[in-house]
Amino acid sequence: MTTPVTVTVTGAAGQIGYALLFRIASGQLLGPDTPVRLRLLEITPAVQAAEGVALELEDCAFPLLAGTDITDDVAAAFDGTNVALLVGARPRTAGMERGDLLEANGGIFGPQGKAINDGAADDVRVLVVGNPANTNAYIAKSHAPDVPADRFTAMTRLDHNRALSQLATKTGAAVSDIARLAIWGNHSATQYPDLTHATIAGRPALEVVSDDAWVADDFIPTVAKRGAAIIAARGASSAASAANAAIDHVHTWTHGTPEGDWTSAGVVSDGSYGVPEGLISSFPVTSSGGAWQIVQGLEVDAFSRERIDASVAELVEERDAVASLGLV
Ligand code: NDP
Repeated sequence: MTTPVTVTVTGAAGQIGYALLFRIASGQLLGPDTPVRLRLLEITPAVQAAEGVALELEDCAFPLLAGTDITDDVAAAFDGTNVALLVGARPRTAGMERGDLLEANGGIFGPQGKAINDGAADDVRVLVVGNPANTNAYIAKSHAPDVPADRFTAMTRLDHNRALSQLATKTGAAVSDIARLAIWGNHSATQYPDLTHATIAGRPALEVVSDDAWVADDFIPTVAKRGAAIIAARGASSAASAANAAIDHVHTWTHGTPEGDWTSAGVVSDGSYGVPEGLISSFPVTSSGGAWQIVQGLEVDAFSRERIDASVAELVEERDAVASLGLV
């Protein structure tokens, strides 16, 4: 058997963790030939619940699962880790100001970034799921000066997948016929799901849709507010679809995007499309050789420009807020 890849999951006893761990252990994250060792990080009061999940993992007798370690120690959690899925975050509670939320998350993602810097494997890849995901990834990256910045990413794949499904439903197309859809900006209600370059079976998606009002009044708000719709219907936030998107993100990162298509991910901006360098913003991206590349040379029309700018402005505000709080 090849050496197992160490995958660390934080907030492992939470809802997303529960939907994620079994899929990782079954081989869906890294492929059917790659054994994994799971490292579960939890806060002390949730360690016992994580131990329960570990018992269930054991009972699945996954052939690819080389072992499961549980810890509440940040340094131990990231020691030698190859893939870090940062899911646990401080949820916003009633009456909490944005500064309080950012400060609480700075206390989580700063030390995690430092522990990754100090102990993770040289090839470490980090996906932040816990919200505010882009800025949490920015905080973690800022505490890891020795890790290449492009190893820190934030999840917008769920937004991308939601957009694919909405477009498929509207047009009657198969999801597999849709290509080149993009999510820009922040994983928040300001995100911009962009159909201007999308194709359906090779035809421009906007030509197939042929309904400008649907794009602005229905498609974009439905994708951006889908999380709230799920809470309203289910009485709990999306967990399985978020876990699925995390699996998709890492699988694409390590296995690449198909020729002629791209996906969406929150990656470190190199200044492309006027997004300030260093921000972790969603872009259309391809993946090859285990690295993301921002798709270059796309025409950005006035409608797209306005929406990208609005979402990026929110990221700039969050960056400035964490800087003024001394979190980066
Ligand atoms: P979930 O597992 O449901 O969610 C975890 C995080 O993922 C939240 O920040 C949530 O954001 C975020 N998220 C991102 N995208 C989505 C999406 N599309 N749908 C839903 N959530 C999304 O939370 P639980 O409360 O069930 O579990 C969190 C666990 O994390 C707990 O077990 C807790 O003990 C642990 N924790 C661990 C920490 C650590 O390891 N240091 C620190 C803090 C908590 P949002 O809040 O916006 O829903």
